[in-house]
Amino acid sequence: MNLVDIHCHLNHAAYKDDLDEVLERAKKAGMKALVVSGVNPVSNKEVLALAKKYPIIKASLGVYPIDALGLAEEEIGLPRQTVPINLDEEFTFIEENIDQVISIGEIGMDFHWATKEDTYEKQAENFRKIIQFAIKIKKPIVIHSRKAERECLEILEQEVHGEIPIVNHCFSGKKNLIKRSAELGHYFSIPPNVLRSQSFQTLVKMVDLKQLLTETDSPYLSPFPDQRNEPVNVIESIKKIAEIKEISVEEAAEAVWENYVKVFGE
Ligand SMILES: [Zn+2]
Repeated sequence: MNLVDIHCHLNHAAYKDDLDEVLERAKKAGMKALVVSGVNPVSNKEVLALAKKYPIIKASLGVYPIDALGLAEEEIGLPRQTVPINLDEEFTFIEENIDQVISIGEIGMDFHWATKEDTYEKQAENFRKIIQFAIKIKKPIVIHSRKAERECLEILEQEVHGEIPIVNHCFSGKKNLIKRSAELGHYFSIPPNVLRSQSFQTLVKMVDLKQLLTETDSPYLSPFPDQRNEPVNVIESIKKIAEIKEISVEEAAEAVWENYVKVFGE
């Protein structure tokens, strides 16, 4: 069985003591690829270093919308970003390391950590610029859209016309937005907390198996209360997908793996 986690943060301080064991557990469970997402220039460098050290780790380099604004002061465990990111400089860095880069993400907009009133225009401008860059380098994009699902979708509709795959990570939009995104061919990655979340279960029901991926967002979003999440938990997403789609666990894993290869190309 081939398993994949298309979105996690293994450069987080939560793994500083036992990353090797976490990776060992993942490999034993059949995991073949762990896509680690950067959120700002410092974390992108950490992600690249991990990808160089561990073949199972793939690098997704990103610019988190709040970091792009220079407002990432609160995060503990991932590098902070307290001045706005110079996007052109970061694009140059990504292009210099393009052979190591599997996707661009996470990127998007976020109106949970910054208000729409104060930051919509700047966030939208940054998001459009990053999308155009991803199209230029022909890489799939992984979208973060917390409290900004409709706004992100509108921009994606305007900026992307089939040039690159779009993956909605942890999508929490309402049914009409799920439908609209699915009709555009977007992919959706399902975190293991689908076990407890009615809205993720609805999403799995609504979206074709050909458009589903799995992620953990580790160390966040554990399926088990108060535990650190880790990539091996994607098996919980696979089990739930299998149950909802009424197929075997093996079939669900194989379908998700094929989608991963199609989108990320390895
Ligand atoms: Zn994330």
